[in-house]
Amino acid sequence: MKPIQTEVGDLAALEALANVPRTPLAFVPTPLLAAEALASALEVPCTLSVKLDAWTGFGLGGNKVRKLEFELAPERLEGVTRLITAGGPHSNHCRVTAAAAAHLGLSCTLVLNGTPSDPSRGNAALHRLYGADILTVTERIHRAAGMEAVAEEEAQAGGRGLVIPLGASTALGSLGYAVAFLELWKQAEAAGDLASTQLVAPSSSGGTLAGLLVGRHLTGWRPPILAVSADDAAEEILDTATRLAIEALSILGSRQDTTDLIKDVRVTDEFVGGGYGVPTEESDEAARLFGRFAACVLDPYYTAKAGAAFIDLLRGAPWTSTDHVIFLHTGGHPAIFR
Ligand SMILES: *Cc1c(COP(=O)(O)O)cnc(C)c1O
Repeated sequence: MKPIQTEVGDLAALEALANVPRTPLAFVPTPLLAAEALASALEVPCTLSVKLDAWTGFGLGGNKVRKLEFELAPERLEGVTRLITAGGPHSNHCRVTAAAAAHLGLSCTLVLNGTPSDPSRGNAALHRLYGADILTVTERIHRAAGMEAVAEEEAQAGGRGLVIPLGASTALGSLGYAVAFLELWKQAEAAGDLASTQLVAPSSSGGTLAGLLVGRHLTGWRPPILAVSADDAAEEILDTATRLAIEALSILGSRQDTTDLIKDVRVTDEFVGGGYGVPTEESDEAARLFGRFAACVLDPYYTAKAGAAFIDLLRGAPWTSTDHVIFLHTGGHPAIFR
């Protein structure tokens, strides 16, 4: 077992990460966009930037593209004829999975819960455009059984289904956000801003946060992180992310204890409001300010809620000109047109 490293990063694990098999899908590096006008509008003296992972590009982009690169590694696709996953009727994860299936010449089934939404709009339209078969179930709890049934059917027909868990939030998928963190590390270093940087990121199934935690350990660069829930309880998200990060580190032959892993990391569920995708006064204001002063489109499910937390954070503390606060924009653009 390796010694636990906290300050200097873990070079062996960094190298291991570079060698984990993956299928390239994302157009990277994504830009780190300066948001000076937004800083002026909010009357804060610090530097604000947006890490634009809405622009990972593939299948209209967002954070799921990076996670699926690892989930859909070539060795995992051997003999696979159909990708199977689940989500809500406007799931970004389902959209990118369907796009990956189209790109790889595979079939795809999406198990969607709840009332089917207008199939001509937003992600619902894109699910169909990318050719996915859609199975609707009434409740979230029926999704897993739905996916198993589809896999069974595929096997009976002589094929093989690959079931991708919700949000591709597995240890393997979270490695996509360790890679994103390395990218951001280089960009922040080039901007000369490593010491006083903080990160705000939307969060739900925990894979993105897990990857960021892994990245902090690998690099030894440990900016504070505020993760903002779109739906689930903060404690639940932090537990899941920590568990996934520890598992992901073990894939890389590394480890860190939980206390160090989540030092200066906070998850808040104070901005969820009426629920998943239900706008609040604060999220509407965030969407307005990001649009008007940063030319950034925030979606109602994830990024607008995180945007509200970002603005609240900026208004709530005394900042100086050396501080740098980065908003991780995880995508979700099609939901604007839901
Ligand atoms: C899925 C998603 C998230 C949440 O990421 P997790 O890894 O599930 O925590 C955030 N933003 C957008 C736009 C998403 O589609």
